[in-house]
Parts: sequence; C-alpha cells; structure tokens
Amino acid sequence: MAIQIELGGTSPQKKAQTPAPQGSVLGIDLGTTNSLVSVVRDGKASVLFPSHERPLLPSVVSMSSRGEIQNVGDAAVLERASRPEHVLFSVKRLMGRSLKDLQAEIHEIPYALEDDELGAQVRIRVGETRISPVEVSAEILKTLKTRAEKVLGEPSNRAVITVPAYFDDAQRSATKAAGRLAGLQVLRVINEPTAAALAYGWSNERPGTVAIFDLGGGTFDISVLRIEENTYQVLSTAGDTHLGGDDLDRHLAGWILSKVPETHPLRKLGSSQLQAHLLVVAEKAKKELSALDHAVVHLEGFEVRVTRAEAESLWRPTLERALECCRSAIRDARLEVSQVNDVLLVGGSTRVPLVKKLVAEFFGRTPNDTLNPDEVVSLGAALQGEILSGRGEDRLLMDVVPLSLGLETMGGAVTKLIHRNSGLPTEAREVFTNHSPEQNAFDLHIVQGERELAKDGRSLARFRLRGLAAAPAGFHRIEVLFRIDSNGILNVRAKDLRSGIQQEIEVRPSFGITDEELMSMLEVAFEKAEEDMAQRQLVDLKVEASTVIRAAENVFKISGHKVEATTAAEFKARLVDLKNASHANSWKQLRDALDALEECGHELAELQVNEAISQALKDKDPAKV
Ligand code: AMP
Repeated sequence: MAIQIELGGTSPQKKAQTPAPQGSVLGIDLGTTNSLVSVVRDGKASVLFPSHERPLLPSVVSMSSRGEIQNVGDAAVLERASRPEHVLFSVKRLMGRSLKDLQAEIHEIPYALEDDELGAQVRIRVGETRISPVEVSAEILKTLKTRAEKVLGEPSNRAVITVPAYFDDAQRSATKAAGRLAGLQVLRVINEPTAAALAYGWSNERPGTVAIFDLGGGTFDISVLRIEENTYQVLSTAGDTHLGGDDLDRHLAGWILSKVPETHPLRKLGSSQLQAHLLVVAEKAKKELSALDHAVVHLEGFEVRVTRAEAESLWRPTLERALECCRSAIRDARLEVSQVNDVLLVGGSTRVPLVKKLVAEFFGRTPNDTLNPDEVVSLGAALQGEILSGRGEDRLLMDVVPLSLGLETMGGAVTKLIHRNSGLPTEAREVFTNHSPEQNAFDLHIVQGERELAKDGRSLARFRLRGLAAAPAGFHRIEVLFRIDSNGILNVRAKDLRSGIQQEIEVRPSFGITDEELMSMLEVAFEKAEEDMAQRQLVDLKVEASTVIRAAENVFKISGHKVEATTAAEFKARLVDLKNASHANSWKQLRDALDALEECGHELAELQVNEAISQALKDKDPAKV
C-alpha cells in the first residue's frame, strides 16, 4: 500500500491536460526578460524563430482591461511605456510566490498584486480582472510553441523547460503547471546552468570542472559542475534571485532621472509611467555602453550623456554581490578557484564589459563566451530533450541532495540514510529492529538536515508500518529504503522482511524551504557540530543502557538465585546505579555505570551462557553433534 502525502504545493489554475507525444522535443528557456525555444535537428541544436522576427521573445504579455490577452513579446513591449499597468513583465519572479514572499520587492513591481483565495500565490490585477503568473507564463510558452511549430511545419507538444538552479519546489511546480496549461507535456524541468554546460559540449570526452556564471535580466546563478563519465554533477550552486540586468537598468534610470530638470514635462507623468519610460531608455543606453564608451539618452528635447565609466561606478556594488556568490559556490564545492577548468558565460547581462572583467579577475582566466549567451540555455534544454526522447547521446544529469535525509531512531537520534550532496538519483537502505517487546507497529519519522537529533532537524513526514506480529525486542527486521528520483522526489519504503508487509510514502524534501532557510540550517549544523555529537553519543549510550538494563533484569530473574548472595547484591546495586545514570545527562557517569555492571555480571552471564549451551545440546539430535 502506498500513502501519498501532499505537503502542499501548487495547483494549476486550469485543469491540465496531458497531450499525446508529438514531434521534436522543444528546449525552452523561460527567462525573466526573454524566452527562447530550440530544437535538435540532424544532431544539431538551433534556436527556432519566424524569419521576420528576433530569436528572443521578450517575456512580456499585454492585456485588455477585460482580461483578454492582447500581445506577447515585442508588440507587448511597445505598449509598456503608454499603459504600464496592462503590460506584464518579469512574472518569473512571481512564479510560485505569495504576497508574503514578495514583501521585499513589491514596491518595484508596477502592477497591482493580490493573493489568491488560499494566500499561496499572487495574482496580478489588471483592470477588472485577475491573472496568475502561471497563466501569464503559459501565454509565453504557447507563443514559443506556435513559433516552433511554424518553423518545423509540424505540431510539437513535448518540452524540457529550464529554471534557475535556486528555484524551489513551488516555483518548479508552477513552471510545470504553466507548461501544461500551454498544452505541453513537460518531460523535465532542468537547471539553467546544467543546460548551459550541455550546450558548451562538456562531456566525458572532455571531462573537467566548470563554473557557469549566468547573469540574466532578473536572476543570477553560479554553479560548479563536474563532468566525468557521462555525468554532469552539480557540485554546488549559489545565486541571487534578485540580481540581474534589471537592477543595472534601475540604477541607470535613477541616475538619468537625477539629471532631468524639475521643470521637464517627463516629471508630470505618473510615477509608474515615468518609471516604465525611464527603464526603457536606461536599458537601451546600457546595451549601447556594452559596445561604446558613452551613450546619449534622448528625453523629449533633453539629452543626458552617460559614459561607460559613470555607469560602471553605479553598477560595481551590485555586480560585486555576484562575486560573493561565486566565492561561496567555490567554497561549497571544496575547490580552489584554480581548479576550475572553464568559466561559461550565460545570460544577456554577461555582455556588459565590467561583468567580463570582474569574472576574469575573480577566476584568474578569461571566461568562455563563444556561444551566444542568450541562446546557450535553450540549446542545452533542446539537447536534454533529445536525450530524453532516446535519440541523443546518453548523458546523465545529476543534481545533488541539498540536505541529508534520515530516520529518527531510538532515543531521538537520527540515522542518516542519504547524505547531503549525494548525486541524484540515489537510494540507500538500512535494516532496523524493534527495541520494545510486543511491538506490533513500527513508527517512521523522516527527518531532513545535518543535525544529530531529530528534534533539531526538519520533520518531513511520519508514517506507521502496521500489522507486525507481536514479538520480543530485536525480533523484527524492518528494511527501510530511501530512494530519490532525478526530480528530487523522495520515496520511503518500510518492509518487514519476515512477513513481507510493507508501506510506502512519497515526499518532496525541498518543498517549502527557501534558500535562506537551507543556508541557515547548514550554518547552525556547522556551529553545533561538536555539541550535537556529544548529545548524540549520550543518546546512543542511553539506548545501549536501556537494552542492557532489560537484559540484566532478565538474567537476574533466571539466574540470580544461583550465585552467591554477595554477588547477587552487588549486581543488583550496580543495576540500580545504571538505572539512575540513564536518567542523568552525563555520558561519563553512564559509561562508568555500564562498565561496572558488566564487570560484576560476568559470573551471571557465564552461568546464563552455559545453561543456554546445555539447553541447546539437549535439544539437538546427539548423532548430529
Ligand atoms: P536574459 O534574462 O538572459 O534574457 O538577459 C536579459 C538581460 O540582458 C536584460 O537585462 C538585457 O538588458 C541584458 N542585455 C542584453 N543584451 C545586452 C547588451 N548588449 N549589453 C548589456 N546588457 C544586455
């Protein structure tokens, strides 16, 4: 029997349908600023776009006040300056997020947001209607699907969609839901940096350690991958979900505004219209500054000249935050910067010369920018789609388990079955026994984290294996299997090896845990490592003591009258000492009490063993002894 535990999650706004597989697998980079679709044809991945359009589809959707979708892409961008409250952009930041999650940046979003009925996900208010970020993303995906089908001349409904490495489960589920809503069968959601390494052709013919520096419009990810023997193992990831080209635009827009005279007509615009207009001109100037050493911003009869050096001094503090993330990713991968064989640049913002310069300084090597940084992720997703459809070269993608997973055992200690940073998919099994006699059920408590005691970890799920025969302590053999699939879903199965009775549970270990929580769990575990270890040793010794006490009482009941009275009295006294010590919290006192009991229990134990042997001999056929 399998129990399904829904630890929450996202429900798609509309009923999802699973289409029958058709055509090539689309590789989709659903970006904060731009999205792209690629496909592998004749063994080569390429971006698909209609001949009269650009390869990049801006991730922008415009709507009417009545809630109808009007335009997607460039046409919607054009409407941004005149009717900003009807033009939705950067919705990727809102995927799988509630108003509470978005508190810090809500002032930066020029359209109105509210929570859905459950308070789980935001919806965007446009005129009289509401739309969810999942629905907006589905419109972008539908447009990409149509673009691809136009070029391919055939229907295509299977896709691999990429997400930032830092997306949590709710965000990944929201992305999948958007795919389904767009009529796509989402074969896999993969991390953007992993897709980039695939596109750059890192493979077993070219093993090595690669850092992927991905600075897009709204997010920054740094990942360190190890490529060997057909596996792409993510050694570490770090990043910032609020760091990207949009920030550079905002800084530059603020600077431009500071140069605009108080009397200029622009100042009469409403604040959201003014901000939207300034962001458009700032982004244009930023792009010019990637090629030239100055740019001129034209503002209705007024010009602002900005030099690359001026812009760089505005941007440097923001970009240095990215280097901080690189530092922690290298540290988490337990590497020195010099051990990184290649640095791949991904995302439109890596075209900014200051970015390339800072990355080169940090890694001590010129970063690799031979592929178009806008296209790499979608090309890699298409290659992954090809592999999943069985046509591509078999390269496995491995992500890692971010926190250890284990089971609470006797006394509240945790036995870790799967350790942090194990590659996915993975599995581990261990056999447990019952400590209490007459136990006809076995309780399992699944715990996540690095701490030694279950009370300090994150409780993921509990379940009970019932229907065991009542039996003495140590009789049952319960095999517990932890299995994590390549999507990070944990399946736990407990099986009584004697009767075959079994029970399963499925949990999403990463659901509801933010990156900050993850980091702080790791930090606390690190700080408390010594204290935890001492506590753990005490708990383990208490478990040992309880088993010894039970066994000693048993021995005494059976053989106590057969030894001298003084020996019996001594044994009883040591047993009382041990019982007292097992309630105290001193490891040393408990260890001494255990040793003392063992010391004076030799005679009793020997008697017991001799009796057991003679009993066993009596039961055997003498001919066979
Ligand atoms: P992405 O999210 O990867 O599509 O990246 C889009 C970001 O790249 C936006 O912030 C763009 O403004 C930025 N971008 C694109 N081209 C350039 C360029 N030539 N120079 C600087 N930034 C650019």
